[in-house]
Amino acid sequence: MTIQLHDTLQGKKVPFEPQIDGEVTMYLCGPTVYNYAHIGNARPAVVFDLLARLLRRSYKLTFARNITDVDDKINAASVETGKPIDEITARYIKAYNDDMGALGVLPPDVEPRATHHIAEMVAMIEKLIEKGFAYEAAGHVLFDVSSNENYGALSKRDLREMIAGARVEVAPYKKAAHDFVLWKPSTPELPGWDSPWGVGRPGWHIECSAMAEKHLGTTIDIHAGGRDLVFPHHENEMAQSCCAHDGAPFARYWLHNGFLSMDQTKMSKSLGNVLLVHDLIKTVPGEVIRLALLSAHYKQPLDWSAETLESARRMLDRLYGAVQGIKVSAAAIAAAEVPADLIAALEDDLNSPKAMAAFFGLAKELNKAEGDKKLALAAQMYASGELLGVLGNDPDRWFAGHVEGDLSSEDIEAIVEQRNTAKKAGDYAAADAFRDQLLEAGVTIQDGREGTSWRRS
Ligand code: AMP
Ligand code: ZN
Repeated sequence: MTIQLHDTLQGKKVPFEPQIDGEVTMYLCGPTVYNYAHIGNARPAVVFDLLARLLRRSYKLTFARNITDVDDKINAASVETGKPIDEITARYIKAYNDDMGALGVLPPDVEPRATHHIAEMVAMIEKLIEKGFAYEAAGHVLFDVSSNENYGALSKRDLREMIAGARVEVAPYKKAAHDFVLWKPSTPELPGWDSPWGVGRPGWHIECSAMAEKHLGTTIDIHAGGRDLVFPHHENEMAQSCCAHDGAPFARYWLHNGFLSMDQTKMSKSLGNVLLVHDLIKTVPGEVIRLALLSAHYKQPLDWSAETLESARRMLDRLYGAVQGIKVSAAAIAAAEVPADLIAALEDDLNSPKAMAAFFGLAKELNKAEGDKKLALAAQMYASGELLGVLGNDPDRWFAGHVEGDLSSEDIEAIVEQRNTAKKAGDYAAADAFRDQLLEAGVTIQDGREGTSWRRS
């Protein structure tokens, strides 16, 4: 069966066909790094990680998830805390990757940072001005919404109605209320880059258009994000990219996840009702949180409660219970087929609840099986777990309550720190010993530009 996806632009579920046979490009709008991610922020990361895992079975996937590291909220956090911007962004990039890693989110192929793509943004803005889609005014560059007749197609908004209903105070330099900022001036205390329009910084929307173009090309296959991004962020990205590329489509399929709420109220940093992944993983295994996030179809709203987590934990108990005591080799897992009904559920617009039901069907079969059949089914269980990003722990450790490793997050951080100190001092034997200590506790570490990140395997 071909994969079916619900495309926001077409407003329906359609068969997925990539632009180039056998290859897929996917872009997911990533975090703005001024704070820890909450479980609502984790929802797109987890559901589109599942999609990436599914796509990688059949295609050569290039998956980009960006980092927004220039933003007024980051500037405000810097003023509030007295810490330099670079320190804030480095800290929260690392925290985001560690936290998502704990939820089984695999690293994307590219993780472009906005501040590393200013030249590409400036080039795209220049192109938009040249083609008559943008104008400069008082140190700002604005996108002229009226120049793009397709504007509103993604979010199903009628521009004329929007203009008639606009009650916002229009900045004096704007030709129309809905024109949005591509570039804005910076004062000396704010981050700024030289540009043809003076020292300034980019608007949020142009970041994604420029980074998607640079890493994935003019037309990308899948563009994903939370549904709050449909308007204005994705509508504006689409307008910028299509106009810069002479009308070439920007994304062939637009996918949007529904919102996560708590007590029926949307979880959001601005409302202050957030549950941070960083805190939750101290007491709840990452797999439980991941499964809880996948317990509803990605497009549906998901109301989070203690019961959501409890039922995810019970599900994992059943899955681990089925494979406990059965020794399966890595080779057998690699050779095992994931059941067809589980794949079919995921191929049907990433129906994760239905895929989980198929997974339980397999566990039930395994509970009744004997001999070789039992081994084959257990291998299928692990292969299915790998696709879904769960069942990565040893069943005995799971039931002993040791899945997080015997080390707390703080313990791990301390050992990572000790290893880095040893490495800096040239004591590589000691550094390796610390690494091995972590490995033994089921923790793998990775050195990167932003420092050392770790994840429980
Ligand atoms: P932000 O860091 O606020 O830009 O959000 C990062 C991602 O999380 C975006 O794709 C948002 O759409 C998504 N997001 C934010 N809040 C929620 C929520 N409560 N439920 C689901 N997704 C969310
Ligand atoms: Zn974006």
